[in-house]
Amino acid sequence: MSRHRRCRRVGFQPHITSFGPVGTIDLANVSIAVDEIEAIRLKDLEGLEQEKAAKMMGISQPTFHRVLEIARKKVARAIVEGKVLRIGGGVYELKENKDYVCYDCNYGWEVGYSTPSPMVCVNCESKVGDKNERR
Ligand SMILES: [Zn+2]
Repeated sequence: MSRHRRCRRVGFQPHITSFGPVGTIDLANVSIAVDEIEAIRLKDLEGLEQEKAAKMMGISQPTFHRVLEIARKKVARAIVEGKVLRIGGGVYELKENKDYVCYDCNYGWEVGYSTPSPMVCVNCESKVGDKNERR
């Protein structure tokens, strides 16, 4: 683990670790780190603001911006130049749950990333407002 790079929190571990042009033999490839894929997932798939996505990954907004730019360029290069995209590596820790807190009773709980956001508090059943990433 490199010393100068801060650990980045990611919400999923990619199970598919290789994409490539159909019908070609795996030659040149582009490597993309798990935290870079996470940046694309949060910004381009989930549609989060950079500030919020950065917070979820435990990094600064400028760092998130840089990671996202690098990640997008790698994906673009793989598609445009017909290269295999390999996903793996990077300095990251897996955080598979989202934290929620009820604004009425202050009860906190976790929900898996792939689980839909809860509509009501699991404790008092009052309506849940905004997700609260308490980190
Ligand atoms: Zn509650």
